Amino acid sequence: MSTTRFNAVEKASNRKAVEAVTPDRKVSDYYGENVFNRKAMKKYLSKETYKALTHSIDNGTSIDREIANHVAAGMRMWALEKGVTHYTHWFQPLTDGTAEKHDAFVEHDGNGGMIEEFSGKLLVQQEPDASSFPNGGLRNTFEARGYSAWDPSSPAFIVDDTLCIPTVFIAYTGEALDYKTPLIRSVEALSKAAKEVCNYFDEDVNKITCFLGWEQEYFLVDEDLYSARPDLSLTERTLLGHESAKNQQLDDHYFGSIPSRVQEFMKDLEIECYKLGIPVKTRHNEVAPNQFELAPIYEECNLANDHNQLLMSVMKRVSRKHNFRVLLHEKPFMGVNGSGKHCNWSMGTDTGKNLFSPGQNREDNLRFITFVVNTLMAVYKYNALLKGSIASAGNAYRLGANEAPPAIISSFLGTQISEILDKFENSAIEDAIEVDDKKRLSLGFGQIPELLLDNTDRNRTSPFAFTGNRFEFRAPGSSCNCGSAMLALNSAVAYQLMQFKEEVDNLCQSGKSKETAIFEVLKAYIKESKPIRFDGNGYSDEWKEEAAKRGLDCESSIPLQYDAYLKPEVIEMFAATHVLSEKELEARNEVKWEIYIKKVQIEARVLGDLSLNHIIPVVIRYQSLLLDNITKLKATFNEEDYLEISAEQQRLIRKIAGHINAVTKMVDEMIEARKRANRITDLRSKAIAYHDEVAPYLDTIREHIDDLELMVDNQMWPLPKYRELLFIR
Ligand code: ADP
Ligand code: MG
Repeated sequence: MSTTRFNAVEKASNRKAVEAVTPDRKVSDYYGENVFNRKAMKKYLSKETYKALTHSIDNGTSIDREIANHVAAGMRMWALEKGVTHYTHWFQPLTDGTAEKHDAFVEHDGNGGMIEEFSGKLLVQQEPDASSFPNGGLRNTFEARGYSAWDPSSPAFIVDDTLCIPTVFIAYTGEALDYKTPLIRSVEALSKAAKEVCNYFDEDVNKITCFLGWEQEYFLVDEDLYSARPDLSLTERTLLGHESAKNQQLDDHYFGSIPSRVQEFMKDLEIECYKLGIPVKTRHNEVAPNQFELAPIYEECNLANDHNQLLMSVMKRVSRKHNFRVLLHEKPFMGVNGSGKHCNWSMGTDTGKNLFSPGQNREDNLRFITFVVNTLMAVYKYNALLKGSIASAGNAYRLGANEAPPAIISSFLGTQISEILDKFENSAIEDAIEVDDKKRLSLGFGQIPELLLDNTDRNRTSPFAFTGNRFEFRAPGSSCNCGSAMLALNSAVAYQLMQFKEEVDNLCQSGKSKETAIFEVLKAYIKESKPIRFDGNGYSDEWKEEAAKRGLDCESSIPLQYDAYLKPEVIEMFAATHVLSEKELEARNEVKWEIYIKKVQIEARVLGDLSLNHIIPVVIRYQSLLLDNITKLKATFNEEDYLEISAEQQRLIRKIAGHINAVTKMVDEMIEARKRANRITDLRSKAIAYHDEVAPYLDTIREHIDDLELMVDNQMWPLPKYRELLFIR
């Protein structure tokens, strides 16, 4: 058994870097070459088709069948010229990750031969036989089929020999079965609500775009070491493993020089990304050994999310070529940092302004404060929902550990913005607002210097931080679909803006000036949303107490965090923004509970197997060696000498026996707990049982085995250790 470990370690440490295949062209020459982007559209579509398609993309209007036929024909021609043979609708089911089912372009030509065929009908809509995707009961009835439908706002792309068409995935009755559908709905709701509020300050604004810039963290592990760890292979995290003597204490990995094997992988990955039109920009080592990060230039939210989904699958593919496995799990290794996926979020106008940047004039500054304050209000009111939106079995191991934000949502604004809001809150309207001769608003405390805003101090412990010209939501986990967090945030802010507008308009109707109305409402909001503002250390225990006092959601159980989706005010918010109906919310929660159950169930099974079939047999063998040794000592020495000489070994044997007993007993108990939980039919209750009764064993069993790892002969230990897994040479 242990030969597997040593073979793997030897192979991994002798591995040479696989050189990246760098095209001899500039990035700008091949950027987006595998994307049916505007350049390709222009070349392969007629003028009218191009116009109709881009109009529909820019304005979110629908495309008629005839245009779709023309688009399909152009797309097919483009793809065939690139050697593509298959096409697929590419969608994002409620499991994390993407789904695809490839079909060849070929059709019978009616004369016994074949022709390449791809009609508008196939482009626009398909019915994948995808009945096995989780749907929370939305498709239980016989005729409730699932459809994938083309999302023209995200361009088609080629992976290998397949044309991939981004699609939404919906039930026959129109309910969303994926992340993309509600994300698009939320972007529309936000855009509409933000535009109306924006028009208070600037009537020329016609369209608001929501932006997302994600930062993807990940680990790399050598392929052979990965294969020698059943826990990594089956659950993407180590269920066992004592900390390495050296891990991240010296802070020598963060921004350190990138190992050449990894560097070559990154180069290949970036080339693939550029061909797919993913604008990756930043790469660096992260804090933990073997941990890295990649971030693109931000893009429109729906497209950015597609790009992140695509990136994750490209990463997996490219890593294999370099004899790596990429780990997207939030906490693959205990004791070192986990991986998140910060979501940088902002809004921009079609007049080129960022709604979270103060501007040159007074309107812009009041507009800036309006959007910051409304965002704070939304985060305050829906803090439990935002937490639910990032909650997963994997992320639970990361949040509240030593590197990630705590499992409480709060917002960090930095001293500058905090001071501005405090000042705003405490000024009398006469002092704060003057209307100049051009009837423009003037904030009594003057302009906000843009330069300073770019230098806001950073608070790494805050889950929702203002970072100069955007908010950075840091709680999402590395393996998640950003859509989950973004659709919750977009909808909450949209609804908040709708309410803001209503309140301001009501005050105006009662005779107040627009400026006074805005001022009064904002002032009240600044007061009300104060509990969400926290600039201190989010890791501290005092904050947990303080947050509870402030009435923020402090629920730490994942299954219960999902309850946030079904609170009356949340159902109302999602209904008013037309993002998700109550029925959809209920169904999606069923899926969330089910996924949680399955993740814990699989981990419990794997740990049971590892304990009883991999670890304990080895430990017993080692114990036998010790016993054999002391038997021989006894035969060799007189009683007094023997007792003295063997004392420590006897203690060790006892200790080992204690651990063997504890592990064996707890594995049995864990199996029983699982059986009891499995008898529960209600998914929420079952998930709670898995959380409360099964999951705790994962930690306690591990503690015993990790202790054993330090006692048992290194030569005999069957699994690659942390020090072997975590340092790529
Ligand atoms: P840091 O790690 O310091 O937060 P990074 O450079 O790793 O910074 O990531 C910053 C991310 O924020 C990038 O994805 C970037 O494109 C994105 N970003 C920058 N400005 C905006 C903005 N206005 N809206 C949305 N995302 C933005
Ligand atoms: Mg960041």
